[in-house]
Amino acid sequence: MSANFPVTKIAESRLREGMDISFGKTFTDHMLVADYANGQWGKVEIIPYQPIPFYPALMALHYGQEIFEGIKAYINKNGETVIFRPDRNFKRFNESAARMEMPEVPEEIFLGGMKQLIALDKDWIPQKDNHSLYIRPFMFATDEYLGVRPSLTYKFIIILSPSGPYFAKPARILVEDHYTRAAPGGVGRAKNAGNYGGSLKAAADAQKKGFDQVLWTDPFEHKWLQEVGAMNVMFVYKDKVVTPSLDEGTVLEGVTRDSAIVVLREMGKSVEERPVNIDELVQEYKNGNLTEAFGTGTAAVVSMIQQLSYRDMDMEFDVANAPVAAELAQRLAAIRTGEAEDAHGWIFRV
Ligand SMILES: *Cc1c(COP(=O)(O)O)cnc(C)c1O
Repeated sequence: MSANFPVTKIAESRLREGMDISFGKTFTDHMLVADYANGQWGKVEIIPYQPIPFYPALMALHYGQEIFEGIKAYINKNGETVIFRPDRNFKRFNESAARMEMPEVPEEIFLGGMKQLIALDKDWIPQKDNHSLYIRPFMFATDEYLGVRPSLTYKFIIILSPSGPYFAKPARILVEDHYTRAAPGGVGRAKNAGNYGGSLKAAADAQKKGFDQVLWTDPFEHKWLQEVGAMNVMFVYKDKVVTPSLDEGTVLEGVTRDSAIVVLREMGKSVEERPVNIDELVQEYKNGNLTEAFGTGTAAVVSMIQQLSYRDMDMEFDVANAPVAAELAQRLAAIRTGEAEDAHGWIFRV
C-alpha cells in the first residue's frame, strides 16, 4: 500500500532530456525524510531533494551508525511502474538496524513511503530497455554528541536515482589473502557504511595489480570464500552451481542471490549453498569442471567474472560462452519486464 505522507512539491521539476544517468549521479526531484526521537518515529514527509543541515558533532560522522539499501524500480512492458522484491530489502534493512543498535523502520514508512515517493517522481524512471530507477533508503545517527553510545535520534531518508544500463564489464578478480572484510560475530551481514569504507584499501591495492575487485575470504585461513565487493558470488561446475553459504554471518544475504538460486533451480540446476574453499575451486578448474563464475547484486544483476586469480594461479573463463550465467540473466530480466510470469510474487506495483 502506498502511504499518504505530506508532500512539499518542488517549484519546477529539474528533469531534462539528456541528463547524465550513469549509475548514482543524478537524483530525482523529491526525497522522503522521517525523524526518530523519544523512542518513536515522528514527522515523515516528502520534500524537494536538497542538502541537509547538521552540526559537526553529528554522531553518524564519528561512530558510524549508518545503514542503507539498494533496490530497483522499472517500467514494465505494460507501462506499469514496478519494484523488484522491496519486501526483502525491508526485512534486511531492519536486520541491519538491529545489528547496529538502531531502531526499526515501520513498513508504512519504508515500503509505503517508497511507493508514494516513486509515484510522485515516476516521470524520472527511464523507459528504455535495461534502464531503471535506483532506490536508496538509508538511516543514520543524528544526535549532536561525542561519546560512544547508540544515538537517541535518527533520520531515515529515501532518495531515487535514474540509471541507464549498468553494463558491468567482465571482471578480473583477485582472491584476497591478506585483508579481511568480515569475521564471524562481526557486521558483515549488515549493510552498514563501515563495511564499504573498510573494503576500499584492498580493492585499491588489487587495482594497482590490474584487477577490478577482490573476492573476500575468511579471516583465519584466507581460504574460505565470502563475496565480491557489493556482489555475492556463484561458481558453475559442469552439473551444478555452488555458492558460499550464509551460516557464518560474514556474507551479505543478497536479494539477487536468493532470486538467482530460485531461478537456477527452475533451470534444472542443482544449487549447493555451503562453505567453498579456494583449493577446491582451483582443483575443479584444473579438472575442467569449473566452467563459469559470476557475481550477483542489484546494480548489475549478473556480472561475469573473466579471471579469478589466487596467488600464482590464474583461472580464466570464457565469458562469451557462459550459458548458465547468460540464461539466468535473461530469465531474471524477463521477470522484471513482465515478459515471464511472476510466479514468486517478486514484482510490487507502485
Ligand atoms: C548489497 C550487497 C550485495 C548484493 O545484495 P543484493 O540484495 O543482491 O543487491 C552483496 N554483497 C554486499 C557486500 C552488498 O553490500
